[in-house]
Amino acid sequence: MISNKMQEQVQNSSIIRAMFEEGKRLAGIHGAENVFDFSLGNPSVEPPEEVKQAILEILNTENSISVHGYMNNSGFEEVRAAIAQSLNNKFGTTFLPQNILMTVGAAGGLNVIFKTLLNPGDEVITFAPFFGEYRSYVKNYEGELVIISPNTLNFQPNLEEFKQKITPKTKAVIINSPNNPTGVIYSEETIVKLADILREKQKEFGTDIYLVSDEPYRELAYDNANVPYLSKYYANTIIGYSFSKSLSLPGERIGYLVIPNQAADFENIIVAANIANRILGYVNAPSLFQRVVAKCLDAKVDVDTYNKNRELLYNNLVSYGYECIKPEGAFYLFVKTPIESDVEFCNLAKEKNILIVPGTAFGCPGYVRIAYCVAYRTIEKALPGFKALIAEIK
Ligand code: PLP
Repeated sequence: MISNKMQEQVQNSSIIRAMFEEGKRLAGIHGAENVFDFSLGNPSVEPPEEVKQAILEILNTENSISVHGYMNNSGFEEVRAAIAQSLNNKFGTTFLPQNILMTVGAAGGLNVIFKTLLNPGDEVITFAPFFGEYRSYVKNYEGELVIISPNTLNFQPNLEEFKQKITPKTKAVIINSPNNPTGVIYSEETIVKLADILREKQKEFGTDIYLVSDEPYRELAYDNANVPYLSKYYANTIIGYSFSKSLSLPGERIGYLVIPNQAADFENIIVAANIANRILGYVNAPSLFQRVVAKCLDAKVDVDTYNKNRELLYNNLVSYGYECIKPEGAFYLFVKTPIESDVEFCNLAKEKNILIVPGTAFGCPGYVRIAYCVAYRTIEKALPGFKALIAEIK
């Protein structure tokens, strides 16, 4: 008999994963080329050539015992040094290797930091719409996820409500920009205001509130949009980075946390996070891919391919009468449903072999997420279905 806690988790199991399975089922019936699966954020652009070269070079030239062996739970020292240096060059920060902890993707990093920070009943605030897995990551450590309602005008965080919902129990705030599911980048103006509010509330309650910046989409920004580097705006910032999307390596499970010296109690956090990485059972981030990413810190996936998909999908959907904000980053379009129920709309879309995810999964009903990390041709072939859908409804 599985645990009560897991029974609950199984019941609420990810809608996105369920859609992915549904896609495979429909493909079996109609043929994969006639099913338009926009449900999962699985990169459709190949990893940069540098990744393959780095793998081959490491395997051909380095000592295989050391390449595949255990290391410090934080990761290889030289890899952390290379990442710290690269961040310092890009953002004018002063990180040292000790500020970097290599993780099993962003998901592993977020679990490590929540295990490190949360006491049972501690509150973690997030802004809807948000990546639905945060619910589980916070619950894993008996924290409470506090959700700020969406600002559907432009999907920047609703800071008025935020101010009201910070309490003495607020231990952390988690934000994600470029955002999954909206593609919106939180502006510098937003970040400055958010940091001011946090400082004000820390003072009022005499607490430390950590700002956790979940950044798997940092490199996927269009039109040279600026993605503010948060440690510059707020001292108690912890950054969770991932190479899943920036180098198209989601299955390799590689990312890192940045725990800056400016963060309150940083020395204890670093020690505790290191141990959390071990006792959660990750032990350390995958050793080969630590070395690979260290050689590819300036490599980039072809963002232009996603940009072409963005233009094609956005321009056409808007011309059919759909309402949505043009994404500035990531590879998602968040569209207002022309009927009230987002779940019902997804079912109607499924009848046209189009798989999309209800906004409810992201704490924002009345919208759907379309992941456009697919082939350009898939979008072209799905467009008549999107057009027919809205025409039939109207
Ligand atoms: N955070 C957000 C906002 C995501 O969209 C994802 C994956 O889609 C993750 C975290 C998890 O990323 P990773 O594959 O690096 O664990």
